Amino acid sequence: MTAPTRAVRDLVLDLPSDGLPAYVYDLTALREHAAGVRAALPERVELYYAAKANPEPELLSALSPYVDGYEVSSGGELAHVGRAVPGRPLAFGGPGKTPAEIAAALDLGVERFHLESLHELRVLADLAADRAPDTPVGVLLRFNLPLSAASLEGSSLAMGGRPTPFGLDPADADTAVALLTGGTLPQLRLLGVHAHLASGLEAEEQIGVAESVVTWATRLAARHRVRLTEVDVGGGMHVDYTTPERRYDWSTYGKGLTRLLDDHPDLTLRIEPGRALTAYCGWYATEVLDVKRSRGEDFAVVRGGTHHLRTPATKGHDQPCSVLPVPSWPHPWPRPAAGSDTVTLTGQLCTPKDLLARHVPAPGLRAGDRVAFGLAGAYAWNISHHDFLMHPRPGFHFLG
Ligand SMILES: *Cc1c(COP(=O)(O)O)cnc(C)c1O
Repeated sequence: MTAPTRAVRDLVLDLPSDGLPAYVYDLTALREHAAGVRAALPERVELYYAAKANPEPELLSALSPYVDGYEVSSGGELAHVGRAVPGRPLAFGGPGKTPAEIAAALDLGVERFHLESLHELRVLADLAADRAPDTPVGVLLRFNLPLSAASLEGSSLAMGGRPTPFGLDPADADTAVALLTGGTLPQLRLLGVHAHLASGLEAEEQIGVAESVVTWATRLAARHRVRLTEVDVGGGMHVDYTTPERRYDWSTYGKGLTRLLDDHPDLTLRIEPGRALTAYCGWYATEVLDVKRSRGEDFAVVRGGTHHLRTPATKGHDQPCSVLPVPSWPHPWPRPAAGSDTVTLTGQLCTPKDLLARHVPAPGLRAGDRVAFGLAGAYAWNISHHDFLMHPRPGFHFLG
């Protein structure tokens, strides 16, 4: 169970049935969380928010005082984030950037490009050819680095350390650095190395990853006798959907990064979390339409489903939720109610995959009760297949 904040709970119980389902965001909770994350990090760590986790403009603005910038991974995110938080630093990453997207990023004055291949490097150099050499475009080379299996053990989505389409292969590192520092591309300035290698790592594991990336970058710089002033170690901080009240150990992570920076006094470290910043501030709230028993198990069908909240389907987990009981029942016939101790919560889609949470301990759950699914502030609405079955879209509320 993950209890909604007071403000969220009051709103969810106030909304009319046809105002549900709804995404409800508590921006005060988001600000408090982001302030805590920022406070746990040493000053020389820059915090960027990976917009793909949740690009709602209200969230982007609420985060603005606590982050140093935003990581965008498409032309769409670039334009959107540029409008939502004008003037804030942007880093443009992601595989398969089109020439038009790169040109748009140059026009927008994007500070940093995370380059994913030698070809992309050449496209950028070509499009930036008329740049004045005193205002070069900042470049970080993204590498798919070999990391020890141990540091990636707990990861749910490994993006590095094995064959992937992300970043440059370490075998291309010397060619890329030579191209950027050989004097023929004055329009580009190599700032450092980027590596987003895995998602779902705990703080201790992330420190290990950051150490290996910095060590690798330091050796690369030494080999080429160049200074690399920045290392971006990516995002991927773990969010525990099974124990929603347990948060990523930012304090341990901050201390680990402090030790690492002590050993590299000229280095700026950057991190770019998405999920672990915004997951906790969002709820997907709805009402129980029907409760039925099928072959010995109770099912509650709620308004909405995984076409709005795809997270449990993509991650194969049970979305944490809280029941908000509604005492009144408007009909003269008996109210459908669960007879057993656990209920499986499903949506309105005609597919057995539309499972939001299985075997939830919700004895006595009734039609008309409301349910708030927590940890729905990241990779939730924006990754869902909204148009499948043509149900109405949810409402959106931003509190605080
Ligand atoms: C997705 C992504 C992130 C954010 O990952 P989280 O798991 O949401 O923290 C950061 N950097 C890059 C390059 C990404 O692709």
